Amino acid sequence: MPARICVAIRETTTEGAVEAARRAAAWADLVEIRADFIRDLDLRLLLSDKPCPVLLTLRSRSEGGEYQGTELSRLEILLEAASLGADWIDVEHSAFWKGLLEGVDRRRVVLSRHNLEETPQSLNALADDMAASGASLLKIATRANRLSDNLVIAEVLRHAARRRQDVCALAMGRVGIPSRVLGPLWGSWMTFASLPGGEPTADGQLPADQLVDLYRVRRIGPDTQIYGVLGRPLAHSLSPRLHNSVFAAQNRDAVYLPLEASDIEDFLRFYEAVPLQGASVTIPFKEEVHARSASLSVDADRTGAVNTVLRRDGFWHGENTDIEGFLRPLRRRAHVGKLRAVVLGAGGAARAVVYALTSNGASVCVVARNPAKGQHLAREFAAEHAPWGQLKGLSWNLLVNATPVGMHPDVEASPVPAEWLTGEWVYDLVYNPRETRLLQDAARRGCRVIGGCEMFLAQAVKQQALWFGAQPPEDVMQAALEEGLLPTGPAPSRIR
Ligand code: NAP
Repeated sequence: MPARICVAIRETTTEGAVEAARRAAAWADLVEIRADFIRDLDLRLLLSDKPCPVLLTLRSRSEGGEYQGTELSRLEILLEAASLGADWIDVEHSAFWKGLLEGVDRRRVVLSRHNLEETPQSLNALADDMAASGASLLKIATRANRLSDNLVIAEVLRHAARRRQDVCALAMGRVGIPSRVLGPLWGSWMTFASLPGGEPTADGQLPADQLVDLYRVRRIGPDTQIYGVLGRPLAHSLSPRLHNSVFAAQNRDAVYLPLEASDIEDFLRFYEAVPLQGASVTIPFKEEVHARSASLSVDADRTGAVNTVLRRDGFWHGENTDIEGFLRPLRRRAHVGKLRAVVLGAGGAARAVVYALTSNGASVCVVARNPAKGQHLAREFAAEHAPWGQLKGLSWNLLVNATPVGMHPDVEASPVPAEWLTGEWVYDLVYNPRETRLLQDAARRGCRVIGGCEMFLAQAVKQQALWFGAQPPEDVMQAALEEGLLPTGPAPSRIR
């Protein structure tokens, strides 16, 4: 059965909650009205004209809510809400559930438990204990600290299904997003979302429009192919937006998730258990995934970094699409073999850039704040190296920023003073914001500029081609990228 979506409403006034519930009905199978946030709670008004079924919740502080009254008045409010037509009443397992179950049809009670700190190794015994209450629907929400905590959620859902017990289970926090998207597939009775444009009621809650339209949670089923981006942190990653937009446009039965793993072992457990068909790889995992891949493309092998993984005959195959991603915008504008480039940085992206340039005949000088790392990188690819202090005097016709300097939120920073920008081309790998301080300074100084968005798009296009053997609709990816970019850049913008 398709996923049930519960949109959680967080408003401080009754009228605001009524209005929000009306808007939420566009996505919701039911709404959860978090009455603990409402300062002028008027249950009669709240429940008089419901746009869809309502779950009414008065969450205590100890379980992540705002309710501060006595337990007796909480019981009275919940009983009154039930008598006024709330379809479900949430009551915490740690509270007075016996009193509520005596006064309300148990098919309308959601017995809930929240662990704001962690996800224990198993939740099965807790589920059994809660089920003994007689409540027909259980809700278990824990905090995910590791990607594999999502698997504990999957396990308790399987356990409950074997006992024919309805359970909604999820892991909170960014790391727990997979459980919110895949939960219904794993058997969760519902999954929670926030009202688009509104405040979430719990950490990690996705806006309902994203959950329904981007992740297409209602159509995820046993045959859905699962992909994702491995990295840490992934707060501003636009990869889920790009890849899910393509899946939606092509009506492909696939979903792409943010996979914020603690370490490679954490990821491996998730990768095999779900199982994933493939993944993008970003900071700081590119080199570790390179080491763990059973087979490698020539590019991935030479750069020592993998940014794309494919499942081939059950094993990992590693690719590096950063190289082609970097070269494509450059080839459209310049003859790569004639370039005299300075590359700033000596991390994963710099490796791909230096390899891409030197293997296409460009001469390269690596400038890194850590001279040992810079020298090492330069030596590996027959490039030159110069200390950061000599940057001012270097002559170049391409300057590449392969450091994160200027990336959101530090948008006013630039790796190079404006007056040193004396060459022809400046290429900034940073893509968020689109117009970095470096690019603005370079344009003002008369340099020609290339932003990181083009590379980001090109490397993602290649990933899709590797996973599915066909070119994806680039216009769809471009539009998704435009939509997801942060509006905040350095001010004022001077790029024309
Ligand atoms: P990384 O592996 O962490 O390497 C970052 C490099 O920048 C390191 O050499 C680091 O030096 C240096 N660095 C960091 N802060 C610096 C500072 N304040 N001043 C000077 N150097 C500094 O990261 P990465 O994967 O190479 O990514 C680098 C940037 O490229 C990121 O912003 C990333 O988003 C961007 N990127 C964009 C695309 C795209 O498609 N547009 C693709 C890949 C990467 P230490 O080694 O001394 O720390």
